[in-house]
Order: sequence, then C-alpha cells, then structure tokens
Amino acid sequence: MPILPTEPLQIVEPRAALHGRNDTRRNLVGLSRVDLKQTLVEAGLEPFRVQQIWQWVYWHGLTDFERMTNIAKKTQLRLAELFVIDRPQVVTEQRSTDGTRKWLLRFGDGNEAETVNIPEEDRGSVCVSSQVGCTLTCSFCHTGTQPLVRNLSPAEIVGQFMVARDSYGEWPTPTETTRMLSNIVMMGMGEPLYNFDNVAAALKIVMDEQGIALSRRRITLSTSGVVPMIARVGDVLDVNLAVSLHAVSDAVRDTLVPINRKWPIAELLAVCAAYPGARNSRRITFEYAMLKGINDSDADARELVRLLKPIHAKVNLIPFNPWPGAPYECSSNNRMHRFAEIVNDGGLSAPIRTPRGRDILAACGQLKSASARRKGERVRDIEAKAGV
Ligand code: SAH
Ligand code: SF4
Repeated sequence: MPILPTEPLQIVEPRAALHGRNDTRRNLVGLSRVDLKQTLVEAGLEPFRVQQIWQWVYWHGLTDFERMTNIAKKTQLRLAELFVIDRPQVVTEQRSTDGTRKWLLRFGDGNEAETVNIPEEDRGSVCVSSQVGCTLTCSFCHTGTQPLVRNLSPAEIVGQFMVARDSYGEWPTPTETTRMLSNIVMMGMGEPLYNFDNVAAALKIVMDEQGIALSRRRITLSTSGVVPMIARVGDVLDVNLAVSLHAVSDAVRDTLVPINRKWPIAELLAVCAAYPGARNSRRITFEYAMLKGINDSDADARELVRLLKPIHAKVNLIPFNPWPGAPYECSSNNRMHRFAEIVNDGGLSAPIRTPRGRDILAACGQLKSASARRKGERVRDIEAKAGV
C-alpha cells in the first residue's frame, strides 16, 4: 500500500493541558473495566455506572462529566470532584496537506513522546509509542540514543490514540468502514515487549467493542525480537506481529540489533513460526531496513527467502532513514529494487516503503524530551520489571 507523498508540515498552535500538574484527581483513562468498576464503587457509585462511563469515555470521547446525560447532576459533580478524563498534553501538532499529522505529546511528569498518523488510500495507521526512549541500542535507530527511558502507562498509551481521534474529530466511534484512524501500529518509540503489561492493558481497552472498538486485525505490534514474550502476544492479544529482523546472519544482526546476542535469529524465527496468527491469511511482517553495504546484497536477499520460506511471512523493506551522526547510509534505489525483486521471486511479498512516509515515521524519537537523566539505572529497572 503506497504511503501518500507528504507536503511540508504546518505547525499548529499547542493546546493547553487539560488538567494541571498539581491536580490530584485520579485519571479514569487507562483503567480496565474491572478496575474502573472497583474505583467507582469505592467512590460510592453503583456498579452499573461503569458501563455508562466506559461508553462516554471511549465511545463518545467525552473529557468532562457534565455532558454525561444519563448521569444525574449530583453524581456528575461527585465524579468531577474525584476524577478526571485526561489525555497527554499536545505540545505541537504538525499537519501536512495530505492529512498526515504528527503530535509531540507531554505526559504528567514532563516526559515527551511522539505519535504519528500516516493516512493511506483506504486507511490511517497511527504509530504509537510504548516507552519514552528505548533501553535497547539498535545501532541504526535514533530512539536508542535517547538518554531518558521510562515505560508509558496504559493511560499514556491509549491516550495517544485518543489524542489522534480528538484531532480528527473522530468521535463517537465510527463504523469500521468509515473511520479514518483505522489501524494502530506499535512502532513508535520504545520496545513494546519490555513494557508488555501496560501495552496489553492499553490494547485491550482499544479493542473493547463498546469503546474505541478497533479489531485485533487492525493492530500490529512490532518487536526487535524479545523471544520469551512473543508467544504471550499471541495468547493475550492475538494482534498482528511485526519483527525487526534487519539482517540474515547473527554476525550482522548482533551489530544492528544487539538483543540478537541474547536471542539469535534461529530462536527468533522458531517462536515466529509458532505464533498463532502465522497462518496464510495473517502473515508475520519482517521489517528490514536497507543499509548500504551492510545487509543489502543479492546473497542477503536469497538468504532472507530461505530463512522466511517456512514461515507465513511478508517483508517490509524500509529505506534507512538517516539521522545526524548515524553510522549508516541508505542503500541505492537500484539496490533496493534488485533486493525486492529477488525476495519477490522467492515467493514473498516485499514492498519498499516510500521514503517520504518513512521520513515522518522516523522522526519518532527525534524530538527529544529536554530533561535527561541517567539511562543506566532506568534500563536495569525496566529490564528487571519486564523479567528479561
Ligand atoms: N522497538 C520496536 C518498535 C519501534 S521501531 C522495534 O524495534 O521493532 C519501528 C521500526 O522502525 C523497527 O523495525 C525499527 O527497526 C525501524 N527503524 C528504527 N530506526 C530506523 C531508521 N533510522 N531507519 C529505518 N528504520 C528504522
Ligand atoms: Fe528500540 Fe526498536 Fe529503536 Fe531498537 S529499533 S532501539 S528496539 S525503538
């Protein structure tokens, strides 16, 4: 599916934060139905309110209690005293004339992350971040160089998609065929499988049919290859899987995606082959950034076919998007087309993503949070919590 060409971006004035940083009221966004019910009951509300409030928040997109017309005024006031329905603050929104939009979002503690919507001919894919920065250090990825890392909460993850919906006025939830924001790709900043519980909680909210109601077939989770977590993605979420492969030998992948030293290619492909969605109808996407002289030879392409043949796979060839100081260059157009041809001839679909769309996506992680703290401690914390 070609990505539409992108016009120069127009900067839209930032919107003020919905609620100040000193606001101690609890945010209802990001709670599971069970937790929402418990929270409401603890506040003295009847259990059936959960259904009403869920629909107002996630189906209608309301951010204030006053407009909840099936809730009595007195209860509305009580709710507003205790709770908020919050979103990340939009620091900047960039709009292109083709409809592409990119948001720099600020969370309650001042940390920032980016979310992008890439409209295509028949859909819009919102690229959502799972962490501020990333603990992994893939040598071609700018996010990996960010000094600050923290996991995003379920509210912050689902909130990114809600901001996108606010921006397009896409409330209440439109039908499956008419919605502009039709897909989510977990391909923003961060490794989603190092923050799996929060990502899963957020995606379950997104998939709830009485709310945002995005089907699991319209959600893709991209991982650099956290092997022990991949089966859980299938069991718990059963969304589409994308794997950042980028190389066909362990020697090369070790340098590009260092997590390969822990979980090498053979182990990665074995868990992919067992992924429940890996049927003909729902292939696993293998992402492959085209790096001049590193991973782009004819032999690499043939080896890619050999490795992926046993799996129901498709390949996404991503022209490398350079950033200041990056140690790589993008392969030439001719090279990318020859590479794609060999992979196609081998029976695997291998579209080359258009560089312009990639330009917008790759800017994920390039607008850094101004605050910088020591990364080492946070990396250890996050790895310990993820149990990997
Ligand atoms: N951490 C996850 C998801 C986020 S990155 C992962 O690594 O899969 C989304 C995709 O963009 C990944 O395939 C990543 O390898 C790729 N990517 C990162 N930086 C890139 C760059 N400069 N050029 C091309 N692709 C890049
Ligand atoms: Fe992290 Fe993915 Fe970038 Fe690797 S490619 S540093 S896993 S965001």
